[in-house]
Amino acid sequence: MIYKLSNKRVVVKFGGSSIEDSFKKAVELVLKLHEENEVVVVLSALKGVTDALLDLTESKDEPIIEEIAKKHEKLANKSGIDLNSVEILLAELEQVLRNEKSFPNKKAFIDHVLSFGERLSVNLFVNALKNSGIEGEAIDSFHIIRTDNGFGNAKVDFSETAKRVKVLEDLLKQNKVPVITGFLGGYKSFRTTLGRGGSDYTATILGSLLEARAVLIMSDVKGIYTADPKIVKDAKLLPFASYEEVLTASMLGMKALHERAIEPVKGKIPIILGKTNNRSLGTLISKINAGMPILAYKIINENLASIGIVGVNEVNFNARIYKRGRNWICFLVRREELENNLNDLHEVIFK
Ligand code: ASP
Repeated sequence: MIYKLSNKRVVVKFGGSSIEDSFKKAVELVLKLHEENEVVVVLSALKGVTDALLDLTESKDEPIIEEIAKKHEKLANKSGIDLNSVEILLAELEQVLRNEKSFPNKKAFIDHVLSFGERLSVNLFVNALKNSGIEGEAIDSFHIIRTDNGFGNAKVDFSETAKRVKVLEDLLKQNKVPVITGFLGGYKSFRTTLGRGGSDYTATILGSLLEARAVLIMSDVKGIYTADPKIVKDAKLLPFASYEEVLTASMLGMKALHERAIEPVKGKIPIILGKTNNRSLGTLISKINAGMPILAYKIINENLASIGIVGVNEVNFNARIYKRGRNWICFLVRREELENNLNDLHEVIFK
């Protein structure tokens, strides 16, 4: 495990599924990191909450709010945390749902509703930190990450955002841990989002602007594998992968990291992927190459899928070549054959 990093500043992001049942492991990691580093935490919404909120924007269904409340209540009770912040935010959510007409368009309304997922989790996490003796501060990235008005997949205004990270630096100087909402941004007085899975991107944006030593992306998988380990049981964990390889693999459908997350730190700051539950770090993304091919896939429609392989130019495989580039190749396969083809290709490459 790498806990002592030579520079004192680290950004650590926790994914929703890795904090779903308990904050315990995530808090332990923050405590450990905080012994030797300045730590900024970026948090996703709890697992399933963003999807539930998305449903809510259509149905406005009261039971969905109850379900969201219960999820947070369960976690709060388990961690001995006060529920006050949840109640306040859910009352605000109800208010927003009643006022859809006050938004300029549906997408702006959706982004505002989605913001509650991360705002809820961040407030609880700060309380969990407090119970462990660390002073955290909940930060709503609406005030920090400024974007354009591309609701749903907004583009970040880096120069405006750079001016605002000073708030985080001031907190770090006071030995506090800023806990900031991932995925969210702001355009004028409106809330925006950075695209699904965008918390990784928030973490690397902040890592870059704060000149962090490393960005840790903690989730429920250990790192990047030669193929999706849920489908290919022989898939191997990659200890290293280069920025370029990960960018290409993400473009070809790899889900381990948000597609845009590489760009802000490319060539400058390493990203380390790890698993929250056992606090183990799996893949270092830096200038060092994987030295092994990476398979990724995309579902195109109900009949078709593509399988991309990063790190090769030719593969002896009986399928139509869909696209290719420098050091990668992508095949077109039938959707129903995807799992088999992935396993076959993996075997061909790693035999
Ligand atoms: N909560 C958002 C989503 O589910 C963003 C994230 O988790 O990174 O897409």
